[in-house]
Amino acid sequence: MPIVAGPPIAGDGALELSGRNLADARPRKSLRMEEHEVRSLVLLKIADGRLPRRTDKLWAGPGNGEVCDACERPIAPGQYLMEGVDGGRTLFRFHRECFAVWNAAR
Ligand SMILES: [Zn+2]
Repeated sequence: MPIVAGPPIAGDGALELSGRNLADARPRKSLRMEEHEVRSLVLLKIADGRLPRRTDKLWAGPGNGEVCDACERPIAPGQYLMEGVDGGRTLFRFHRECFAVWNAAR
């Protein structure tokens, strides 16, 4: 009898499901931790004046290794960079996630 590469539906399904669960769980968990850390940093920096409470203009684009003014980690190519500009002067550069934290905290 020839070997039939039959569809082990249950096996594939289980594998796919566990893979998806892992992929889902990891970023969510780390994002939550990061948000918590970033929030503390952002609040501190707003309080001591290192971060502004407002910006004149907001620019969004791809990152290029700039250091985020909130979490102090590089904004890699492929990540969104949010830049606050006031009269041509750069006020801050944030990850999109960090911008959301700042926007809620300011
Ligand atoms: Zn950041």
